[in-house]
Amino acid sequence: MNDELFNLIERLANLLRQETRAAGQSLGLQPVQQEALYYLSTCNRYSDTTLAVTEFLGLTKGTVSQSLKVLESKKLIVREKDKSDKRITHLKVTEVGNIFLAATCPPKKFTEAVTQLSGKDQSNTATLLSEILRNYQITAGRNAFGVCRNCKFNQKTPEGIVCGLTQESLSTGDTLLICREYCT
Ligand code: SF4
Repeated sequence: MNDELFNLIERLANLLRQETRAAGQSLGLQPVQQEALYYLSTCNRYSDTTLAVTEFLGLTKGTVSQSLKVLESKKLIVREKDKSDKRITHLKVTEVGNIFLAATCPPKKFTEAVTQLSGKDQSNTATLLSEILRNYQITAGRNAFGVCRNCKFNQKTPEGIVCGLTQESLSTGDTLLICREYCT
């Protein structure tokens, strides 16, 4: 069963890579640059730094820095200093970047294949894959990078949703993003 699961996930990943690579070529992007761009469109304000991208992709700082420079030169991302801590630089996806991602991520053929499943099957599959991902991250000793709404620090208070770690308010949109501080 383990081999079968590995095989299936590997083949899915391969198809996804092929389709996204083809889309990226239209902008002259390498797969790693596309991955960094996609990550930055899904992560929250605590996770949009060079270090977080490096941790998420599991690559060297040099490779990630080069990829970010390419994204910046193509005006797909911009750097913004943190308002309260000038040592922190956030990497924000621009409108051009978001337009590119909206047209290419997830790839069209992948969406067509997934929407052939019922809503319930899609939801059950997402739950099972999330569980495998979480277990794998723990076993591999990798930072979890989970979705905020499932984090143990995500607190619902009478005043709204609050991050128990930073004590900052979270919008509903924030709770759908990936966070490097995520904790189960
Ligand atoms: S609640 Fe958890 S996942 Fe959400 S911002 Fe706070 S630490 Fe990150």
